[in-house]
Amino acid sequence: MDAPHVVLLPFPAQGHIKPMLMLAQLLCHGAGGFNITFVNTEHNHRRLLNLIDQTAFSRRFPTLQFMSIPDGLSPEHPRTGPSLVDLFFSTSSVSKPEFRNLIVSLSQEPTCIIADGIMSFAIDVADELGIPVITFRTYSATCTWIYFHLQKLIRDGEIPVVEGNGDMDKHISCISGLENILRRRDLPNICRLEPDNPILQFYITQASKMARASALILNTFQELETPIISHLQSIFPTVYTIGPLHLHTLIDSPSKNSSSLIQIDESCIKWLDSRHPKSVLYVSFGSVIVLSHDQLLEFWYGLVNSGKPFLWAIRPDLVVDNEPNKIPDELKLATKERGCIVSWAPQEDVLSHQAIGGFLTHSGWNSTLESITFGVPMICWPMIVDQLVNSRCVSEIWKVGFDMKDTCDRSTVEKLVRDLMEDKREEIMESTVKNARLAHDSILEGGSSHGNIKKLVQDIISIHS
Ligand code: UDP
Repeated sequence: MDAPHVVLLPFPAQGHIKPMLMLAQLLCHGAGGFNITFVNTEHNHRRLLNLIDQTAFSRRFPTLQFMSIPDGLSPEHPRTGPSLVDLFFSTSSVSKPEFRNLIVSLSQEPTCIIADGIMSFAIDVADELGIPVITFRTYSATCTWIYFHLQKLIRDGEIPVVEGNGDMDKHISCISGLENILRRRDLPNICRLEPDNPILQFYITQASKMARASALILNTFQELETPIISHLQSIFPTVYTIGPLHLHTLIDSPSKNSSSLIQIDESCIKWLDSRHPKSVLYVSFGSVIVLSHDQLLEFWYGLVNSGKPFLWAIRPDLVVDNEPNKIPDELKLATKERGCIVSWAPQEDVLSHQAIGGFLTHSGWNSTLESITFGVPMICWPMIVDQLVNSRCVSEIWKVGFDMKDTCDRSTVEKLVRDLMEDKREEIMESTVKNARLAHDSILEGGSSHGNIKKLVQDIISIHS
């Protein structure tokens, strides 16, 4: 009998593809020995295959095949910043029938489909074809739990959250487990939309469809989010918390950079090698959000004025109204002295480098989890979706950093950098070190995530036999 065949379908963005490809690699190579079909959109399929060493990859993962479907957008579409949401609607309409055609054309019928929580059209396809489906939400358990309360938040009048309104700091009482934690400003930014806004409605539909899947996979670990994971079990009888996925893949297959859609610039590692231990602040805003030129300058001045060395990943498309000629000479000079700028960094190598002492981050879930596991405290500047929740958890629950949500001025940046690297470092280091240890323990033999990966593999085998 053939090995089980698992089809994985990520949402077409870096932060979703990375954890799903790491899971695919684990199921193929380490834990399972399964046949894997990994379905990207055509746009990302081309980007990924351009960057990976295909021969080495297929030698390492011989039973993993990449396939692709259209995403319904033109090749020139930016697919970042506010335009990212176009993918929600285009994938649901254009990619859905293409995905169905792909599934029925596969030479081995899938044992199960693992679909991203915001590609839930895959659940309709799987139901129609009688194929078991598991949903993978690439966010934290906490944010996933909040998404199941959007309708309740509308009913209770908590949505829309109005920016600048004095009520932004009011606590939200209708989400069990988060009563004394979450303020209105910490809700995903889609809660700042009107209730009938199509984007908010899209998330509501995705949550209700997701709940039809037979199980939920999360890239988190039990010890980090225990109470909320228990709450999620009231919706999903089985919740596999299998993270931090990047730690498993460090051990089981040294292929951490094989999911990057953007060319990595390794030169910064040499620069880091020459810096003192824990002296450098790493700055990155991930693959999707965009800044205005003014925001860029506020961060830049804050970093320079803090006097601390910094390594900054500035994507070519990070700044919307990019005006390179309008960067003041004083910033360029100070950066030459104690800064390093690359377009895309080898982030895991950077965060695990001994010279790194802190991370100024947009609080994407992968970045948050990577920072936690490498024991690097954070300054959080969240902008969209789950980032606003993650930054609150970082500062209020896990106490591994500071949240500068809803502010962007040079003096706040300067102060928080000093706090993180020096003045208030002691306050958060105990908790930072503890959480890093818990993360590492979870993936070792006997650890919670290690056990959940084994259970996931066993459960897929039992579907197959
Ligand atoms: N990343 C990277 N180099 C960079 C910036 C980010 O390799 O210069 C990786 C990072 O390690 C993380 C992912 O890109 O795994 C970003 O995912 P995240 O969920 O943090 O943010 P998103 O890009 O989805 O907003």
